[in-house]
Amino acid sequence: MKTLEWNTLFGEGARRIQASTIRELLKLTQRPGVLSFAGGLPAPELFPKEEAAHKAAAILKEKGEVALQYGPTEGYFPLRAWIADWLGVSPEEVLITTGSQQALDLLGKVFLDEESPVLLEAPSYMGAIQAFRAYGPRFLTVPAGEKGPDLDALEEVLKRERPRFLYLIPSFQNPSGGLIPLKARERLLEMIMEGGLVVVEDDAYRELYFGDGRLPSLFELSREAGYPGVVYLSSFSKILSPGLRVAFAVAHLEAILKLTQAKQGVDLHTPVLNQMLVHALVQEDFPERLERIRATYRAKAKAMLEALDREMPEGVRYTRPQGGMFVWMELPQGLSAEALFREAIAQDVAFVPGGPFFAGGGGENTLRLSYATLGPEGIAEGVRRLAKALKGLLAL
Ligand code: PMP
Repeated sequence: MKTLEWNTLFGEGARRIQASTIRELLKLTQRPGVLSFAGGLPAPELFPKEEAAHKAAAILKEKGEVALQYGPTEGYFPLRAWIADWLGVSPEEVLITTGSQQALDLLGKVFLDEESPVLLEAPSYMGAIQAFRAYGPRFLTVPAGEKGPDLDALEEVLKRERPRFLYLIPSFQNPSGGLIPLKARERLLEMIMEGGLVVVEDDAYRELYFGDGRLPSLFELSREAGYPGVVYLSSFSKILSPGLRVAFAVAHLEAILKLTQAKQGVDLHTPVLNQMLVHALVQEDFPERLERIRATYRAKAKAMLEALDREMPEGVRYTRPQGGMFVWMELPQGLSAEALFREAIAQDVAFVPGGPFFAGGGGENTLRLSYATLGPEGIAEGVRRLAKALKGLLAL
């Protein structure tokens, strides 16, 4: 057969899209017997399997002509109206997206040109870095930890640069688990308002708090202050099912209109049946469901922290998350998380090395542990294996 040089045929933009080395590494974690803290996969025991089966059958039987037809790009109206009511906005300000991942890509399309500055936390969500990278922006980063981004560093950057937007995950950040305290949220918003800047607030983990309640989002604070520049993203992935791919963006009407136009060219609309199913599922016991999810992750986080406190050698630092799905770990300087990954895989335990979460490089001695997928016993055993791998590496 005749051969083609595919690489010379792809467009300029495609050259920026590359297989992430990390996703290659993560294939190793699927080996049978491996206890994985790697994927950010929600706990499968929390999926509403029975309810979804009944509701999907009823939707198809009673409203099949809607569920199986094309739908509006903005989304299934009753679901937009439900989300609007939940968040205290108007339905026209809500765009349903095919996962928040799609919203990240749409934001890249709408806001970024080649070499546009875009500001991210270091570390930040790898999927966002990947989505934005396709548009060829220039990444500006500020260090972020348990209390979110370093605001003094952020202020310095904003003196020199005017990013097209700031991408932030203020609550239970992926990967760091960080939570921006209320005072810092207020200061952050002041800085943003002063600069007239756009913030993309990714609130995928909004409901997964372990304490008494949520902190107000930047979006909520911005509305109180009468500032239109916060684009809010969240998703049903962590509270119902990631496989349904139903999420939403909430923003000023002009931003929603532009994002909707961009979405039209991508997939016309998010699958109607999935949206109808989500709408049906949130009608019943939703607050109880959220409570159950919080209790499950709270217990898993506790199991992981107890195991880490018991097993980890001196010099290893890790966060104590107040919500979400992740513990973030720092190895002693000079130790490589990728080297630990290889030792760990040999011990049948996996995690994600932290390097790829840093858009500007660095973080080689960091790693992310997800406690979401395994049960308490799996977590304890996984941490035992991880400690063994680490002690092996330290002895080299
Ligand atoms: N944002 C963050 C911070 C995430 O952690 C994830 C998923 N792990 C996403 C967005 C993507 O979520 P979705 O399933 O809604 O596409």
